[in-house]
Amino acid sequence: MSVASITPDSNVSTKAAEKIALENNKLHKRLCRLVGQAIGDFNMIEDGDKVMVCLSGGKDSYALLDILLTLRERAPIHFDVVAVNLDQKQPGFPEDVLPTYLTSLGIPFHIENQDTYSIVKRLIPEGKTTCSLCSRLRRGILYRVADELGCNKIALGHHRDDILETFFLNMFFGGKLKGMPAKLVSDDGKHMVIRPMAYVKEEDTERYAEVKNFPIIPCNLCGSQENLQRKHIKGMLREWEKKHPGRVENIYSSLSTVVPSHLMDRDLFSFTDLQIDGVANPLGDIAFDEDPCSTPSTVPGIIPLQRNL
Ligand code: SF4
Repeated sequence: MSVASITPDSNVSTKAAEKIALENNKLHKRLCRLVGQAIGDFNMIEDGDKVMVCLSGGKDSYALLDILLTLRERAPIHFDVVAVNLDQKQPGFPEDVLPTYLTSLGIPFHIENQDTYSIVKRLIPEGKTTCSLCSRLRRGILYRVADELGCNKIALGHHRDDILETFFLNMFFGGKLKGMPAKLVSDDGKHMVIRPMAYVKEEDTERYAEVKNFPIIPCNLCGSQENLQRKHIKGMLREWEKKHPGRVENIYSSLSTVVPSHLMDRDLFSFTDLQIDGVANPLGDIAFDEDPCSTPSTVPGIIPLQRNL
């Protein structure tokens, strides 16, 4: 379905309504393009796959399911989609919302009822973070459900900003250059986990959820404290983007342009075996030799570093 068909507020003038419809349509096209590109770049979905789309009731997973269904209609290959929600029995979880929505879409779905909420409450002392045990339990259950449903792929709704936040969390608190992969083999070695929204900005999923009026289920029903460090990093990235437009995109690009010889991981690059070969490398370090505080270079080939990066 085209998002242009979603009519804005009736009080808005026809011209304004047309403009909004055009913007909505562009957003839909952009999401389809970026999700299609990520699927292609990482060979996420192949002919004959059965993809289990994990639906939490949040904006990202709704957007993922919606865009995947659109792409499936246009794809030259055949793949099946099954939507799965894990009802963790959090107090106040509105049980009917997802079945009603999924029935209206007319696609196969499964609601898995497992009271992980009580397990987590019982095992984790009051005031301590519950997310790590909760996610571990959820992961195990979802792998089992994927097996039972005969799904070989498990699609998650994480987007570009989730990946970047995880990257900085790992760097700041784990001392590792490690993000969140667009594609990985599950811990049990039996499934491929894919993140087709890997190229999509969070602001686009937020806007898309509004446009499509997805029946969002609040994510704070478990009563757990929001991950404060992740929140802090999200704020840091938003602040950077405000002050230096394009910076976040550059950081994101850097995740797919890694130069092991210019890092320090001796497992990734064999520094001990490094030999001089007498061949000049025009793409070597010289571009960054200049003092960033000096006057701009006039030497051909030397790119002056920007101040206040
Ligand atoms: S926020 Fe609540 S539901 Fe989400 S992972 Fe943490 S404990 Fe689980």
